Amino acid sequence: MPQPNFRFDVDAEGVALATWDMPGRSMNVITPEVMAELSEIVERVSSDPGIKGCVITSGKESFSGGADLTMLQGLGAEFGRLAKAEGEEKAMGFFFEESRKLSLLYRRLETCGKPFAAAVHGTCLGGAFELALACHYRVLSSDDATRVGLPEIKVGLFPGAGGTQRVSRLMQTGDALQMLFRGDQIRALLAKNMGLAHEVGKRDEIVGKAKAWIEAGGSAVAPWDLPKFKAPSGKVYSPGGMMIWPPANAIYRRETHDNYPAAKAILQSVYEGLQLPMDLALKVESRYFANILRSKEAAAMIRTLFLSKGELEKGARRPAGAPASNLRTIGVVGAGFMGAGIAYVTAQAGMKVILVDRDQEAADKGKAYSQQLVTDQINKGRAKSADRDALLARIEATPDYGALAACDLVIEAVFEDPKVKDEVIRKVEAAIGPDCVFASNTSTLPISGLARSSARPAQFVGIHFFSPVEKMMLVEIIKGRDTGDAALAAALDYVRAIRKTPIVVNDARGFFANRCVGAYLLEGHLMLAEGVPAAMIENVARMAGMPVGPLSLNDEVGIDLALRIVKATKAQVGEAAVDPNQERILTAMVEREGRLGRKNAKGFYDYPPKGQGSKRLWPGLLELQPEPLDPDRIDVAELKHRFLVVQALEAARTVEEGVVTDPREADVGSILGFGFAPFTGGALSYIDGMGARAFVALAGALEARHGPRFAPNRLLLDMAESGGSFYGRDPVKAAA
Ligand code: NAD
Repeated sequence: MPQPNFRFDVDAEGVALATWDMPGRSMNVITPEVMAELSEIVERVSSDPGIKGCVITSGKESFSGGADLTMLQGLGAEFGRLAKAEGEEKAMGFFFEESRKLSLLYRRLETCGKPFAAAVHGTCLGGAFELALACHYRVLSSDDATRVGLPEIKVGLFPGAGGTQRVSRLMQTGDALQMLFRGDQIRALLAKNMGLAHEVGKRDEIVGKAKAWIEAGGSAVAPWDLPKFKAPSGKVYSPGGMMIWPPANAIYRRETHDNYPAAKAILQSVYEGLQLPMDLALKVESRYFANILRSKEAAAMIRTLFLSKGELEKGARRPAGAPASNLRTIGVVGAGFMGAGIAYVTAQAGMKVILVDRDQEAADKGKAYSQQLVTDQINKGRAKSADRDALLARIEATPDYGALAACDLVIEAVFEDPKVKDEVIRKVEAAIGPDCVFASNTSTLPISGLARSSARPAQFVGIHFFSPVEKMMLVEIIKGRDTGDAALAAALDYVRAIRKTPIVVNDARGFFANRCVGAYLLEGHLMLAEGVPAAMIENVARMAGMPVGPLSLNDEVGIDLALRIVKATKAQVGEAAVDPNQERILTAMVEREGRLGRKNAKGFYDYPPKGQGSKRLWPGLLELQPEPLDPDRIDVAELKHRFLVVQALEAARTVEEGVVTDPREADVGSILGFGFAPFTGGALSYIDGMGARAFVALAGALEARHGPRFAPNRLLLDMAESGGSFYGRDPVKAAA
């Protein structure tokens, strides 16, 4: 068979092996061509009496990451064209048929009369795992690299090629829903225990095991096609079902606040599908899938969290022509909270780390953090003790600046004090070689100002991590006035090596992310000052789509830090730059009540000792509210708007000021950096999504009621006037 994407062999026993190995690609991906070839394979296996059955495996390091999302985007464009030319109904008909092709292909494979087995090593996600689920037998390699799962929800989609139906027929409904809602990547053994796979074996044995199953007469009928099939949780309309569905609905609402149509579609597909035979169930799933594929949430999330994020990770902002950096040894100066985390992620990526602090004890303490993190991983079964030894051997903790001599990049994370930074920059530069790049992890001090302490400002750059470093995926790279291409390229190469997502911003107070976060915290503080009940502030923020309320977030960051920033802003920018109501709240919390946040177990919340219950809002907050408002008279929709609009306005200002030059970075940065309502696609997509005109009208109404912080900037007013959008602007022109 002419198969550029699959090799197809039949062995002496009559068992076929289809090896998926797309030419010129490092990873297999589902494309229209792959679907056509797979269909040919199914027909050949089905019709050739000399073939007993077929094993599907991959010829690459991984099985496959799933469907090509740009293919799905193309469908959307075709829909738009047809809707215009031939009407909405015709377009929807086309869209439905096209978007369910993969589902029908997998169903044909499942019912073609011959047994199919999947032999899976490495990543097998999304549409690829749905292929495995349609096979009658699944063997996974025990290798640590093997991960299966259905992560579609993370880009606003859901598994539309049978995933919702097969998973809910393999597992208890509650477990299936959780798996589909979370989109986790699951290791081989766990997948087997969950009922998602039949066997786990060594990497070089999986094909043999899959073949052996076929040779031994493996059945070509899926369990759900047998007349006596019963779903693991029984019928939907049964006493058991009634224990599951009402709470499932409540959990869906609690987790999504109805912001994610894809999550709702999962619930609906599983609920309706479980009451139907498989073919009809798949049709129901397809109907929901076609709707979700056309939703603006899916379009926004695919663009930001799949396409833009991928482009930034692959170096969209890397200066053209800068040679690849050779980053082997990284210096980290300051082994405190941030430095310890930076050392860990760097060593984790296989680089050698020289971790310097003022004395041996402080440096050792920073290294001990890595020991603790990797030990936690071992306890969870995710690492071996050999991994810990190797990781710790890569970190050298020392008070000796001279040890930095061999470093290719040094990152400082010492106290946020210009004098301390100045001294550290000079000491590091006296120790390092001429090509070494120096990076500062400062969160508030302008990079160009710090670079004045440097004898080589072209090799000076900002690499701004978020805490906790090991969990937060965003890194802001700050270009100072004199930062050169080589330093920028080295910073980007470093972020790539530690597998995080970079955005590149120009130097300005607060850079990008902290400015928007600051606006969010301020809004929470001001609501408190106005008399909005604290619980309402927190809940409405989550309803708007934020992962944590502003008061919770401030407790994590430190209320004293917020007060320090307010005071510094007042001193440096002037009285008018600070809202007196915010200052009053923060001063009362820190200076009068000694409430600093989670760090002293007393913040906007009280934090009981471990094992004695969860955090609770501090009742004393009422005393900070001279005129409490009646919750029944508060406009919840307005509070939600305030939270998102105030951040989006700040993001728009960073664009106008040239801090952010590419809308992809603002969007990716806002979701990864501070959890800006992901269903919107990010802070600028939120504006584009409703249109600049509508956004300006909304901001204007808020400005009239709540003051000038809601005033739209010139850029937005111009866009509203011209009908422009952030993505419609030419990023190159915007940067000029
Ligand atoms: P920290 O106080 O936990 O750690 C600072 C460390 O620097 C301490 O271990 C201290 O002993 C060491 N140090 C001080 N002077 C030194 C010197 N001369 N030589 C060597 N080591 C020295 O502070 P942190 O929270 O880790 O913050 C460090 C930097 O990271 C600051 O610039 C801060 O603005 C920035 N930052 C912090 C966060 C955060 O959430 N904490 C987030 C992003 C960036």
